[in-house]
This record gives sequence, C-alpha cells and structure tokens, in this order.
Amino acid sequence: MRRGTWVGVVMLMGVEMGLGDVEPTALRPLAEKVLAQLDQALPRLRQNYEDLHSHPEVSLEEVRTAGILANEIRSFGFTVTEKVGGTGVVGVLQNGAGPTVLVRTDMDALPVKEETGLPYASKVEVRRPDGSVAGVMHACGHDMHMTCWLGTAEILAKHRDDWSGTLLFIAQPAEEVGKGALAMLEDRLFERFGKPDLGLALHCESFVAHGDIGYTSGYALANVDTLDLVVKGKGGHGAHPQNTIDPIVIAARIVIDLQAIVSREIDPLDAAVITVGSIHGGTKHNIIPNEVRLQLTVRSFKETTRQRLIDGIRRVAKGAALASGAPEPEIIVDSVFTPAMFNDPALTDKTVRGLEAILGKEHLVVREPVMGGEDFSRFARAGVPCVMLRLGTIDAARVRAFEEGKEEIPSLHSSKYAPVVDPSIRTGVTALVSSVLRVLGR
Ligand SMILES: [Zn+2]
Ligand SMILES: [Zn+2]
Repeated sequence: MRRGTWVGVVMLMGVEMGLGDVEPTALRPLAEKVLAQLDQALPRLRQNYEDLHSHPEVSLEEVRTAGILANEIRSFGFTVTEKVGGTGVVGVLQNGAGPTVLVRTDMDALPVKEETGLPYASKVEVRRPDGSVAGVMHACGHDMHMTCWLGTAEILAKHRDDWSGTLLFIAQPAEEVGKGALAMLEDRLFERFGKPDLGLALHCESFVAHGDIGYTSGYALANVDTLDLVVKGKGGHGAHPQNTIDPIVIAARIVIDLQAIVSREIDPLDAAVITVGSIHGGTKHNIIPNEVRLQLTVRSFKETTRQRLIDGIRRVAKGAALASGAPEPEIIVDSVFTPAMFNDPALTDKTVRGLEAILGKEHLVVREPVMGGEDFSRFARAGVPCVMLRLGTIDAARVRAFEEGKEEIPSLHSSKYAPVVDPSIRTGVTALVSSVLRVLGR
C-alpha cells in the first residue's frame, strides 16, 4: 500500500523527475554529514579488503566470502538471507516510506595466479575441471566492490535519520561465468524481497584515476555469447588426402569466413565481434583427424545484431562443410548468455549530476562503451532501471603516462592488476552513499 501511495506521488511530480530527488545543491551538505566518519571507517574497510583479497574464491564457490558479507551486514542491522541463487546474499534494511534501492556487488575471483608482489597477495590455488591446478586471484576487483558495498551498508545503516526508504543489498555469485545474477533472479529474488525501483553497482577500472568515476549512458557493455563448433570430416593418412575429408582445411576456411560476417553483414556503425579463441584438431603431422573443435565468443549490443551474428555463424559453418562434402557441423550456442549492460539514461544523468556536486565535475569521466560483458545487466533486463559506475583505481600520473603511451598499466583480469586501495575505497563508498542519498535522502 505504502508503495502504491508513493508511486502516486511520483506520478504527480511528473515522470521526468523520476524517483525521489534530492537536488545536487542539497545533496552535498547531506552527503558530507553522512560521510563524515568515512575516514574513521577506512582502516577497518582496508582490513576487509585485504582479507577478501588474500582469500579469493572462484565462481560458484564463494562460500567463505558470502559468510563474511552476510555476518557484516547483519551486524549493521540488515535482515539477511543467505544462499539465494547458490551462494548469493540478500540484505534488506527497511527505513520508512520511499523507494527501494538495489545495491549490488559480485563476489567471485578468477583462476589467475597473482603476480602483484603485494604483502596480502593471494596464494590460493584451485583444481580446474580438466584436473590442472591454477592460482586464484581477485583480478577483476570484485574484492574492491565488496569492500565499497560493506562501507556503504555500514554508513547508511548508521545514518537512518538522514534517509527514508528501503535498501536491498545483494552480493551475487558467479559474475565471471555470467551465471550469478540469473541464478538469484531465478531463485525469485524480486518476488521474495520486493522489486527495487532502481539498481546501482560499481565496477573497478584500471585505466581511470582513483578519485574519478567513469560512466556511460545507454549501452555500456556487450551481449556475450559463447559457441562451440565441431567441424566434422573423415580422418585418414596425411599422405592420401584424396581418401579423406580434411576438417582442418574446412575449419581454416570457417575461421576466415566468420570475419566477413562482421565486416560485410553488420552495419559498420554497429559494434560486433566474433573471436575464435580456441581451435583444436589432430594429434600428429601425418594424420588427418576426424574433427576439429572451435570455441567462439560473440559480442554485440543490439538483440537484432546478436541474432544476425549467431545465424551467420551457423550458415558459414554449414556452408563450408557442404562445399567440402563433409557432414553437417555440430553448433552449440550456450543457453546462458550475458545480455548487454544498458545504463538507464535518465538514472545515469541524475546520478552523475549528483556526483558532480560531491566529487567535482572534473572527477566524472565519460567512458566509451566496450565489448566486455557484465551480468548486472540481468537486473536491468528484469525491468529495474540500473546504472553501473566505473570506479577509478590507479594513480592519476600513471593513467596520464598510459594515455601518452609511456607506461603500461595492467588491465582487469591481469595477474598484475592492483588497485590503489584506500583512495579507491573512499571514492567507491562516497559514490554509492551519495547516489543512494540522491534518491532516498531527507
Ligand atoms: Zn571480470
Ligand atoms: Zn568484474
């Protein structure tokens, strides 16, 4: 009921205005008051960060991590539910009338052996599905996301007099494999805990200076599809190709022809990528194998483009097989894809205008869309206006040197990626707290 009444009020205010709206000029003193103790909270948050960093867990195995997050936000006064969509954590803090704001972190690390040389570097290892052993590292900065999420939860819980509404804090598993957000939604996240009015998330950036927040309005990250392609032939002696159908030659033709889908069938102003990341066939110099296996990643923004790419790959693969008299290839499109991240333009604008008042206009930087993927997009697809902000994590001087081509900076997923911790936490918490207050502030 309360929610219905509130929606009515918003309708009167005009849809343009959107949700609760603290003007940027009023937001600044409010955020300064609420964030006054951030410096005191920093040492503890840094401890959280170093602990999470040195105990990374790969996708779908975030058990220790989830336990820590659940305990922490429970201690701040949130009502916590664990094991939502696997290891997912949901914390709800109801604090009077007003909108519901979702704040999301991801929890998983990557099978990367850390090479930062930091005193709190990870020494964790994991056994891979193929039996090999790999190092594990928070090389995508999800440990930083969790730390900022905790800091934001703690500060907002301590300052309940300064805002009104509901916080829905979620920690999702398995972002790196594109499964966690979907798993939480399929576990009836919104039916059980209420559908939020908007969603916020941070993602670390290795090419943005700490102290800065990057943003992209509209499409920011791509649809990510994964395809397995098995090219079939007829094996035999390498000296007698006339008695075989050589799948290696067919596969080679397919790899080249796939690039013509992007260059000849897609609007040049519409971004698309087909990458063959793995190709395996044969065992020895003089044996023509029976089959060749290819693994592809396919990226796009628009749904129509996505379909065109997938249809094109099928057609090219089948065509190459037909032309060689080979059996039809096997094409498996992974049903779990990551949809493109679309930052709601109105919410992005509103959030950025608010942050400009807090951080200073020069600290908000426009980022071009990129072809990476992020399953935060699932919440937007489920009908929640969302914005994912990019958190700068690197020294400004290094970013400048990188832009001038004078220095290399390790990218996300690199074994050497190392955010500058304290300033990154400070800006991350400031950005999230201020963005929540922009909507819920009193
Ligand atoms: Zn990642
Ligand atoms: Zn990530």
